[in-house]
Amino acid sequence: MVTKLKQPVIPITEIEQSAFCQTDEELSSKTLAEEFQAGVRWQKLPVSYMRMSPEELDDRIGAARAKLGSSLVILGHHYQRDEIIKYADYRGDSFKLSQFAASQKDAEHIIFCGVHFMAETADVLSSDDQRVILPNLAAGCSMADMARIDDVYDCWDDLQDVLGDHGGVVPITYMNSTAGIKALCGRNGGIVCTSSNATATFEWAFERGERVLFLPDQHLGRNTGLKMGVELDEMLVWNPFKPLGGHTEEALRRAKLILWQGHCSVHTRFTVAQIEEARQKFPDVNVVVHPECTMEVVQAADLVGSTEFIINSIRDAEPGSVWAVGTEISLVNREAADNPDRTVFCLDPVVCPCSTMYRIHPAYLSWVLDGLVEGVVVNPITVDDETAGFARVALDRMLAVV
Ligand code: SF4
Repeated sequence: MVTKLKQPVIPITEIEQSAFCQTDEELSSKTLAEEFQAGVRWQKLPVSYMRMSPEELDDRIGAARAKLGSSLVILGHHYQRDEIIKYADYRGDSFKLSQFAASQKDAEHIIFCGVHFMAETADVLSSDDQRVILPNLAAGCSMADMARIDDVYDCWDDLQDVLGDHGGVVPITYMNSTAGIKALCGRNGGIVCTSSNATATFEWAFERGERVLFLPDQHLGRNTGLKMGVELDEMLVWNPFKPLGGHTEEALRRAKLILWQGHCSVHTRFTVAQIEEARQKFPDVNVVVHPECTMEVVQAADLVGSTEFIINSIRDAEPGSVWAVGTEISLVNREAADNPDRTVFCLDPVVCPCSTMYRIHPAYLSWVLDGLVEGVVVNPITVDDETAGFARVALDRMLAVV
């Protein structure tokens, strides 16, 4: 049995998570030099881009985009800033954007305005002659960074040692994880899930094994497990910095659901107190939250679902209805602007964008577009063939389930 003591590592993305939190709701982009003053560590780029004003960058991006025509497609995740979303040919959540990337056979270049794991997934799903570009290589995801591949392999090996060969454990990884973890799932009879199909993938997994190892978001895993009737005392949280995840062999044998100790720094900001406050202020309020929120928040909300579910719930609602939303602020602000006959606000009074999504500043988009105009591919994201092959197995299983 592998017994190791490791030092806890806090991802830099988690440390910087509150770098742009504020109370005045002013999220318009500033020059990159000004944004760097928040003490963030982003990718370096030519200094001229640091000083360009938002207006200069806007003109520059528009000109480069026009020159490049249909040779490229720009994808924008819902949590991106407005100054980036305005250039997106397609907007969506991570899964929809990856599917869209796979369907864009004519585009030579796919510029993914999102975070690293999304660009990796797009590379896995796109064809060999297409290049996926991530404008800022520092745009990771604090949740994905909490599951490092070596730690996950150690966990998997420990579970095999304790529970026997495969031990009836089926690994499920949330889309928000590295290609390496998706490949581990593909190699070992596992599957990928998104926040909209987590229940279907749990059903699939429990038809094939007695237990599920769920990575990397403990909250989505717990919320889905509860929905499926798994009791809290049948779930464990695996701490990668403790031997056997912090559990005895007997406890591991009893567990039905082993949850990786990861979380989303944005969605765990929401609290039951915020929901109570919203209900006091607006007795008819509809509270809708993302399943990456804690179990307590999910249970206190009226509706729970993926980003796409949240968008559709608000758009399909009656005019005059009131919506308190527990998800990323850029999306909430956009929904409020797009639905002026409904009251839409974020549960959290502090405006706190996802700091990793926020790393796609217009200066970075301008830089990679200018590179393409000059024939230079800046920041390509490439997953090696073996990893991509097994990751694709786990992604294809998901597509067959839903
Ligand atoms: S919102 Fe959370 S899960 Fe999504 S990219 Fe940001 S840190 Fe990662």
